[in-house]
Amino acid sequence: MLSRQILEQREKETLAPYAAKSADSRGREYSEPEHDYRTAWQRDKDRIIHCTAFRRLEYKTQVFVNHEGDYYRTRLTHTLEVSQIARSLARVLGLNEDLVEAVSLAHDMGHTPFGHSGEEALDRLLKEEGGFEHNAQGLRVVEFLEDRYPDFPGLNLTVEAREGILKGRSPYPRKPGQTDPRVSPSPTLEAQLVNLADEIAYNSHDVDDGIKSALLHLEDLQNVDLCGEILADLDASTGKPLDDSRRRHALVKTLINLQVTDGARQTMENIQREGIHSIEDVRRHPTRLVAFSPQMTDKNRQMKQFLNEKLYQHYQVLRMSDKARRMLTDLFMLYSSHTEQLPPEQQERCKSEPVKRVVADYIAGMTDRYAGEEYRKLFLPLIQV
Ligand code: MG
Repeated sequence: MLSRQILEQREKETLAPYAAKSADSRGREYSEPEHDYRTAWQRDKDRIIHCTAFRRLEYKTQVFVNHEGDYYRTRLTHTLEVSQIARSLARVLGLNEDLVEAVSLAHDMGHTPFGHSGEEALDRLLKEEGGFEHNAQGLRVVEFLEDRYPDFPGLNLTVEAREGILKGRSPYPRKPGQTDPRVSPSPTLEAQLVNLADEIAYNSHDVDDGIKSALLHLEDLQNVDLCGEILADLDASTGKPLDDSRRRHALVKTLINLQVTDGARQTMENIQREGIHSIEDVRRHPTRLVAFSPQMTDKNRQMKQFLNEKLYQHYQVLRMSDKARRMLTDLFMLYSSHTEQLPPEQQERCKSEPVKRVVADYIAGMTDRYAGEEYRKLFLPLIQV
């Protein structure tokens, strides 16, 4: 059997000098004995997979609400795509796949039901209490809301996993004026890489889901530089007209491949140009090293603009997101003015914590269908509560 020490030694021998090494992790907030045969980040990843917030990703909206069809991405399948893309990037760059996987799997656990419209609603409702933001909420989930271990609140993940969840912002200092020696200007390359993988995944699968739902059309995508080039190459190389479904798959596959390859090449170039030889060099570096080339950045911006206009602002998408905003707002108003209608666990928390934050945590943890059910029970007559 391979011990943890042997696995840690292997990381030191095989990963790039600027990769994060589990033996050098900055540790956990509550100290625990190390595991016999799992590294610190394998353990983080396992804790994430077994937690409630992770399982609920299955029934949370990415862009299309769960009941709109079985084809579309949910937060869970999006998360798996991010993890797969991020691990490919990590492997080709010699970075730590376990850390990358842990951060990827947790990166969307702070999302509300119904995607960004849910987040906007809670942010507005909590304006005076510091607002609501999904990355910060993700940190609350793993530090506090997942309550399952006898010796500590949350999942007690490593500093590196938590800073990754905060999208690379340091989880320290945690109170104004409080400093922590673990604070660095930049997060690990592994955390930076998950951001890029997230962007690659949603740009590509929103194109896929958009076409499949018939809200976007392949002909319109010809005018988006990146997609137009791919489709022209595809037509030239196959020599015969492909059916729409094959064209869509080929487009999405190539979109992912081009972005991953560009990101890997540019990141390697940045690492070499900036003379990065260690993780300390990464942490001291004032700007992000994981990036697309300037050309890909421009093409991506254009594609995002297109998706924003044609997909996210499509009247059918807007109808659903506005309905979601109204539903969550009504639930929030009802729970916060009638806390006696909350489940006992939340009522208990209301005794010592700000009511609006307790209610926001409760709503943010819901799946789309649970929120929908709650709405029906509380607002429609003749429905059993
Ligand atoms: Mg994401």
